[in-house]
Amino acid sequence: IVKYTNVTKKYGDLEVLSGVNLEIKPGEKVAMIGPSGSGKTTLGRMLMTLEEPTSGTIELDGELLWHTRVKGRLVRANEAHLHRMRMNVGMVFQHFNLFPHMTVLRNVTEAPRKVLGLSKEEAEERAVSMLRKVGLDEKLIVYPAQLSGGQKQRVAIARALVMRPKVMVFDEVTSALDPELVGEVLEVIREIADEGEMAMLLITHEMDFARDVADRVIFGADGTIVEEGPPEAIFDDPQSERLQMFLKRFR
Ligand code: ATP
Repeated sequence: IVKYTNVTKKYGDLEVLSGVNLEIKPGEKVAMIGPSGSGKTTLGRMLMTLEEPTSGTIELDGELLWHTRVKGRLVRANEAHLHRMRMNVGMVFQHFNLFPHMTVLRNVTEAPRKVLGLSKEEAEERAVSMLRKVGLDEKLIVYPAQLSGGQKQRVAIARALVMRPKVMVFDEVTSALDPELVGEVLEVIREIADEGEMAMLLITHEMDFARDVADRVIFGADGTIVEEGPPEAIFDDPQSERLQMFLKRFR
């Protein structure tokens, strides 16, 4: 469903990604681990069309994301194309980025109404069912400031899911939370993962969670994918010295 081919990203002289190749199959859960600054967030943001690759291509559901082909040549896609493609991807960030002046329900209905053009009733029906899924259907008319961090993050998850994306990107969604709130958020993600149909890119520092949920784990460092494989191989039998060193920090 997702295919990065030879993707490079530079910020000025800083090369954050150098020639990344990564494929995610429909329904597959891929966890991305690696040291801070290794470009994990950048990789996710590209899929959400928040960052443009410096070179290389990204395909989503068989279509080029940042480019289109004109007479066989690759050209930059226009905003309408990006907009259409963006609707297939949901992203949840470390900081919840909820709209503070809107109730929980409104936070979740806003995009289905504005972007998908659903009626108020249709949007609310979908939103309530998503909020039920994340265990917050009793907080519909509450404002974000009245919620705990874990609850805010669950609203952010409902807000992304309500668009019914084909791929979800979870970018270190628990790193800003108090330790006692981490579990409830991971549990919600685990349940969504178990439903199976959506592909997921899980950028995380929670190694136990990655081991449990992911079909495949990717270890990125210095702008490339250093090692990848099933969770057991990555965590119990790491091959590269980089990964061995990295994992020691979590023991
Ligand atoms: P972390 O685990 O800390 O979130 P990461 O692996 O997700 O790290 P990125 O956030 O993708 O890494 O950032 C990779 C590098 O790119 C970092 O050195 C960061 O400072 C740099 N960077 C990210 N965004 C920008 C930007 N908009 N302009 C300049 N440099 C950037």
